[in-house]
Amino acid sequence: MLGDAHVVPGEQIRAVPPAWETHQPCHARYLVAPATTAEVAGVLAACNAAGQSIVPYGGVTNLVQGCATRPEDIALSLARMNGIEELDATAQTLTAGAGLTLREAQAAADSADLLYPVDIGARDNCTLGGNIATNAGGTRVIRYGMTRDSILGLEAVLADGTVLSSMNRYIKNNSGFDLKQLFIGTEGVLGIVTRAVVRLRAKPRSHNVALLACDSYDDVLAVLGVARSTLDNSLCGFEVMWDSFYRKVTQPSGRQPALLPAGHECYVLVEAMGSDPATDDAAFASALEKLLESDNVVDGVLAKSEQERAAIWAIRHDVEWIVTGAQNFDVSLRVNDIGKYVEQLEQGILAKLDTAHVAAFGHLGDNNLHVSVLNAKSAAQRAFVEQQVYEQLRPFAGAISAEHGIGLEKRAWLPLSRTAAEIQSMRQLKTLLDPRNILNPGKVIG
Ligand SMILES: Cc1cc2nc3c(=O)[nH]c(=O)nc-3n(C[C@H](O)[C@H](O)[C@H](O)COP(=O)(O)OP(=O)(O)OC[C@H]3O[C@@H](n4cnc5c(N)ncnc54)[C@H](O)[C@@H]3O)c2cc1C
Repeated sequence: MLGDAHVVPGEQIRAVPPAWETHQPCHARYLVAPATTAEVAGVLAACNAAGQSIVPYGGVTNLVQGCATRPEDIALSLARMNGIEELDATAQTLTAGAGLTLREAQAAADSADLLYPVDIGARDNCTLGGNIATNAGGTRVIRYGMTRDSILGLEAVLADGTVLSSMNRYIKNNSGFDLKQLFIGTEGVLGIVTRAVVRLRAKPRSHNVALLACDSYDDVLAVLGVARSTLDNSLCGFEVMWDSFYRKVTQPSGRQPALLPAGHECYVLVEAMGSDPATDDAAFASALEKLLESDNVVDGVLAKSEQERAAIWAIRHDVEWIVTGAQNFDVSLRVNDIGKYVEQLEQGILAKLDTAHVAAFGHLGDNNLHVSVLNAKSAAQRAFVEQQVYEQLRPFAGAISAEHGIGLEKRAWLPLSRTAAEIQSMRQLKTLLDPRNILNPGKVIG
């Protein structure tokens, strides 16, 4: 159906190193790479008839074992479906194949003087389809929302080969069920996304970034309040790094220069983007001045050039230095509770595992905390860390995944964030749309 060149034996895929070390080596017997929706539909219909399991492959950058394969699986890559069909600058929409990388989508928008606002560190490799399947978040959610908020329409192929085309282009369309939502954030277990219509935005004309140091989490909350009230719609990023993160990245053996001295409780990266450089720059500078005069900020630096903005972001983006070899978690809590949670979690882990290094950071403006724990070596120690992270969420009614999804890695903990009735409804939907359980079997709900 696809031609020999596009049915690659597993051994050949295993010989190619992955783009990111996300610990999901390909064990599949074959990787197939269709080029059209009709080919995806043909492959799925044939696999459904044969009871053959399929694991969708985007850029394989997910962090939850969402692309884990077994020797009996076939991986289905969307890499060849990466064409841009249309960029409508007036309607501010981009229509493209699911295999287009995020970087390519951003570049296409930029070439039309527009912005595709979704942005994550894996932008060079992750794909539109993978971003949709994981409802990817990133660093601009506070202003533009998650991937879900940028998807107007999509096309998906169901397990039996049925093509469900919901290529809506309108911001408003209440004509019946919004079926595209079935495929956003459901990690390829209900259908394979083949094309999408994404919403573009006006390209910002001003860009301001500052790094601030605070001596308590309450001060961070006060800074968030000021940033929200003074910067309003231009507030685009509010990232917080605890000293455990900042120190590791900027210490002499670290990779980034310390723009502020280490040793403060938290470091806040504030970013604003607006449409009028003259007034926006002045408003940002005045908000910063107000904060530096208050008791809530003990030190701060305002970037004055693109190079300086990049230097501040480089500290926050240098996660490789933090996450490599660590256990990495991605949770959501009320912003008021995050400081207490970090404190209790660190105490809980260090009480039993005093060699552990607990680094906390995250997209605080949208409730999202990342925690990376290094030095838990044995399986029992790793299980203890996992239990601490998730069990300590319980009193705060936290969510076990803010943006990375469930995959295989967090499946056992799903009942902590979802009721039995919710999980049962997810299973019923799965059974309805994929009765033979061929699509990404075992992921999310088992
Ligand atoms: C350095 C780094 C930084 C990251 N930062 C962030 C971040 O800030 N925010 C965030 O949310 N995530 C982040 N991630 C995680 C990851 O990049 C996202 O989950 C991304 O959306 C995955 O896209 P992908 O194309 O690589 O999908 P893959 O990893 O290939 O797939 C993800 C899941 O979707 C399924 N899938 C893939 N393509 C399709 C399709 N076309 N149709 C149906 N199902 C499909 C897969 O089977 C899998 O279950 C980061 C990862 C790295 C390595």
